[in-house]
Amino acid sequence: MTNTAAGRLYVVATPIGNLGDMSARARTTLETCALIAAEDTRHTGTLLKAFGVRTPMVSLHDHNEEQRAPELVARMQGGASIALVSDAGTPAISDPGFALVRAAAAAGVEVVAVPGPCAMAAALSIAAQPTDRFCFEGFLPARGSARRERLLALAGESRTLVFYESPHRVVEALQDCAAAFGADRPATVAREITKLHETTYRGSLAELAVRAQGDADFSRGEIVLVVSGAPAKESGGGDDGHGGELDRVLGALLGELPLKQAAGLAAKLVADVRDNEAYKRALRLKGAQPQPGMDKL
Ligand code: SAM
Repeated sequence: MTNTAAGRLYVVATPIGNLGDMSARARTTLETCALIAAEDTRHTGTLLKAFGVRTPMVSLHDHNEEQRAPELVARMQGGASIALVSDAGTPAISDPGFALVRAAAAAGVEVVAVPGPCAMAAALSIAAQPTDRFCFEGFLPARGSARRERLLALAGESRTLVFYESPHRVVEALQDCAAAFGADRPATVAREITKLHETTYRGSLAELAVRAQGDADFSRGEIVLVVSGAPAKESGGGDDGHGGELDRVLGALLGELPLKQAAGLAAKLVADVRDNEAYKRALRLKGAQPQPGMDKL
């Protein structure tokens, strides 16, 4: 039950690159709260200065939010309202905030959204990919093998996929997406949304991967990658010759088992697949080379 005598936790979205996107309500909330819990107080300090807001701040980031949440919840239970902000966009969306929101809700403190910019929603809204059903996958793993495994597990996903990606990894991410989902799958890269150099690139995954390699601007600034879902007729996506089922099974197993074991098990689980075929497919999915003797499985 909500404690009405307590202060509230306001989860406040801030601009992702254009100060004009700061809402009047976000500004008033930051002005009138007792305290602002900010991912980076120096970064938010610049924003507050731009709007003449003098509310005190406390830092709340990935490394301290579990420890700090109880003390902030106690302050709210004592009557103080707190605004939660991250460096840009909506807190708790691939940003700190979840632990505090959960702790506040569990303690009966009212949690109030002050919605606004979010790179994921902004990119999806301009992607020209289906928006009726989508799934937000946040950041892909930085390590190549882990990234490929994650993508394989998503090969059969029919909803539009939305990823955050570092500009330094966008070429590899597009190449891995093309390998896992098929080179022709339509996709959109939304770069520097709301900023001076905002650019939207649309094309097949293969086209975008080539473009990203040849165009230095592509790898500068912030990026959201939106990939169309697997076509219904494939009922699984991928080009594994088994309607994507082999890729799906391998995708799950490769995350848990050594390659040879995963391939052997996949061959047992998927109809009409021989050990050798599963092994070769697993190698391709992992981007690995065959080891001597292994192709004789
Ligand atoms: N909480 C934020 C939100 O609501 O969008 C996201 C924070 S996450 C740490 C940062 C990632 O969001 C970036 O690496 C990029 O993928 C995406 N992003 C943030 N701002 C962006 C922008 N202006 N244009 C494109 N992508 C952006």
